[in-house]
Amino acid sequence: MSCSKIMDMVYEYSDEPHVTAAGVINQILIWLHTLVCQDCVREIKKYEESRRILMKDFFPPSPELEDTIMAVIAAEEKQTEADLTSGVLSIRGWVIAGLIILISLATASFSLDFKKLALETGMSFLLPVGITVGIVLTSYCAIFIGSHLDELSERFGL
Ligand SMILES: [Zn+2]
Repeated sequence: MSCSKIMDMVYEYSDEPHVTAAGVINQILIWLHTLVCQDCVREIKKYEESRRILMKDFFPPSPELEDTIMAVIAAEEKQTEADLTSGVLSIRGWVIAGLIILISLATASFSLDFKKLALETGMSFLLPVGITVGIVLTSYCAIFIGSHLDELSERFGL
């Protein structure tokens, strides 16, 4: 069995919390392969290490970030109330909040020895990072559109 097939099984198995017959057979095949293949032993160690770091350190509770965003949005709400006739300021506030999110994500990545880890682990590390960034940006856009529905529909005549 080839090394890439073994690594596929390692990735697959680690996402599957339930013990299944196929999972047990996969574990045995992986174990047998690691007896003869030091390359895969190293790959699996790297993968498990990056997984551990991701679980433990990559999603730290970040009340500061949350507070900052909420403060910006709250200030913006007040501004909007004070200036109901104009939507321009409101959109500017949201752009600022979006920039804060992006900067925070970038800062979190670099504080983690991100580059070193990414180089060592390749795609297995970049995938969850990409998914996280994607989820944050998607949620942000969804909240933005949701809270500006009236404004947007007026603007685009929907
Ligand atoms: Zn191998």
